[in-house]
Amino acid sequence: MDQQSVYQKSREEILEIGKKYNLSQNALEEFLEPDRIVEVKIPIKLGSETVTFRGYRSQHSNILGPYKGGLRFHPKVNEDEVMGLSLWMSLKTAVVGVPFGGAKGGISLDPKALSEKQLEEISREYVRRVYDILGPQKDVPAPDVNTNPKIIDWMIDEYIKLARKDGIKKSLNELYATFTGKGKNGLSGRTEATGFGGVVVLKELAKKLNLDPKNTTLAVMGFGNVGYYFADLASKAGFKVVAVSDSKGGIIKRDSKKTFIPLDIPLVYECKMEKGSLNGCYCAGGVCDTRGGQLITNEELLMLPVDILIPAALEDVINENNMQNIKAKVIVEMANGPVTPKAHHYLSEKGVVIVPDILANSGGVAASFIEWEQNIQNKTYKKDVVLKRLEKLMVKAFESVWNTAKSKKTNLKEASYLVALKKILK
Ligand code: NAD
Repeated sequence: MDQQSVYQKSREEILEIGKKYNLSQNALEEFLEPDRIVEVKIPIKLGSETVTFRGYRSQHSNILGPYKGGLRFHPKVNEDEVMGLSLWMSLKTAVVGVPFGGAKGGISLDPKALSEKQLEEISREYVRRVYDILGPQKDVPAPDVNTNPKIIDWMIDEYIKLARKDGIKKSLNELYATFTGKGKNGLSGRTEATGFGGVVVLKELAKKLNLDPKNTTLAVMGFGNVGYYFADLASKAGFKVVAVSDSKGGIIKRDSKKTFIPLDIPLVYECKMEKGSLNGCYCAGGVCDTRGGQLITNEELLMLPVDILIPAALEDVINENNMQNIKAKVIVEMANGPVTPKAHHYLSEKGVVIVPDILANSGGVAASFIEWEQNIQNKTYKKDVVLKRLEKLMVKAFESVWNTAKSKKTNLKEASYLVALKKILK
């Protein structure tokens, strides 16, 4: 596997693109360096002991607007990771055309090893330690891996307490705009926004490639927030979702001629909720035909002879070890960084169309912008209004990346970087 750091990998890719298209290397170098990286200690009493966690926030660029990006809770969170992810955020907000910059942060911890009370204390302490650099016009965090609206609600509550103590004169609704992905005062439609945006892109791509949804098979890796909504909305749009998986493995169904039978996604979801994993959920929705239903590993899912692969779980899953076995002709990167640069190069050369993460999953940050605006303007948007706006933003972003790829005779990843850099380095 490609062992380079997340940040270095992206930096080198972008500098290469800069050279190829004669972009100013000085301006690029300046943009690539994060504006500020903050590392804080978070000491917490766990029983009789005090344990110190490390928290991070990388504010990458605010050229296009306030810093914007998620906060993750994971043992692997470190300075390099947040730097790399914050750079991707700067590009993503530019591609989807919302007036935000890029940021990312998190705390290095294993949330499964902590109680809810302890997680709340850690979340509040993190906000106390980074309070000075946050604000609706400064830096606007959101949920990410292992964080959710409940955690964000603790954080915004702590932030507002500190802002009031500090004598900040902003209205309450404006202060709410300091975080997005909230439970209270959040946005209707935010939960499905990333999957929804990905399916808008899928439909636009299908039109360009002349793919008829009813004859197009999809395999979706990851059945969490992004993967589930993507699978559900894609099947509602008429695509054949024939494989889904979670961390324990995946499921497919085939008839006696080995032809894939599309899965009934709402029933599969119900089954997953009941059992806790997808194991055996091909039985959902009728008499369980154990001859047709089959459990597969995540590696097997990636090698299925489907038309489109949707990696929607982890980074680096398509890499130099398995790239030769990929049979899909299209990959839509719904996770962040699921195809390594080497695999991207190899597959693109073979003619595989890869929709890059900074376009495919940008529906999440686009919805965050609508939530931020709703708070600033003290309005409450209805879900159908939110999804209509989101659709428009996604179609526009897709068109601009697609047209750039055609005019520059390049792939969609390079085109999306060019679209972003044109706005950032103007
Ligand atoms: P999630 O935690 O809700 O779901 C993750 C899913 O991946 C779960 O079904 C889990 O079982 C599965 N999974 C874990 N390990 C796996 C493995 N080894 N093989 C296959 N599946 C595995 O997370 P999410 O919010 O759906 O995010 C998924 C990806 O999308 C991440 O890369 C995230 O950064 C990216 N993303 C999410 C959003 C968002 O709005 N949630 C926005 C942009 C990008």
